[in-house]
Amino acid sequence: MIARNMVATLVAAAMLLNGKVRTVRRKAEEGEIILSVYFHSPSKKLFTGCVKWFLKNGFTFITASDLEQIASREKPFPKSAVLFTVDDGWQSNKENIAAVANEYKIPVTIFASTAPIEKDGAYWWSYIAKAKEQGLITQSVGELKKLPNEERIKILSSIKEKLSLPREALTKKELQQIAQTPYVHIGSHTVTHPILSKCNDDTAAYELSTSKKQLEEWLGKPVDHFAYPNGNYTPREIRNLKKDGYKLAFTTQPGYITRSHLDNLYELPRFDVLEDVSFAENITRMTGAWFAKKVF
Ligand SMILES: [Zn+2]
Repeated sequence: MIARNMVATLVAAAMLLNGKVRTVRRKAEEGEIILSVYFHSPSKKLFTGCVKWFLKNGFTFITASDLEQIASREKPFPKSAVLFTVDDGWQSNKENIAAVANEYKIPVTIFASTAPIEKDGAYWWSYIAKAKEQGLITQSVGELKKLPNEERIKILSSIKEKLSLPREALTKKELQQIAQTPYVHIGSHTVTHPILSKCNDDTAAYELSTSKKQLEEWLGKPVDHFAYPNGNYTPREIRNLKKDGYKLAFTTQPGYITRSHLDNLYELPRFDVLEDVSFAENITRMTGAWFAKKVF
């Protein structure tokens, strides 16, 4: 009886989510919402699966620049539209995202942090996770994210003296290569991927302006779009982004892009796709059905 109830609960939950997914598709079809989805380092199978799911369901892929034009009313609010973004600039993105975007002719924006591209080695949180695993430190990545930036850097530097990890980010050459096709757009994700709300004013300003200049120099074109590392920001970050000439920025707040978001392009919501859950769960994540309570 208990087992039967558990199955029934699962079936009911699946039906409920299926109904919610249908509702989301209808709202998108009617031009009420734009779906906004983000990735980090998905497998080729997962990313291709997500692209195919949206194509099969009649969605059109739009770019971050399209959003600017929709906001300025040069383009109408689209029907059945989805926007794919990718955070950090992982080396795996070349094969698993850029190649797939080119094959299916769908646009993606990859938000890259410039320091991990310039230097060999891993993203900072990988050092922390490894050091904790080896008993070199007791703090977790989550705990370090809560520290003032200077303290986090101090701990990180001492770990880097003892640990060497392989490269995780794209190289500069790879970034330049993938940015050459019409389907791969590059945005900024700061220089060092700090928690911006934990940085002092100088560091916070440097992280936004220097990454923009660096990427523009590498790519030879304007870089106008931004994603907040770890989703953290304060009103100061929005002021700095505007001053630097960034046109829009994405948070990690789950939500659909609606007309009301177009009045403030610096707090655009996104739904995350996870790399270690079932594809069925990711469908409910991408469509926001998973988060239904929070976003409707
Ligand atoms: Zn990130």
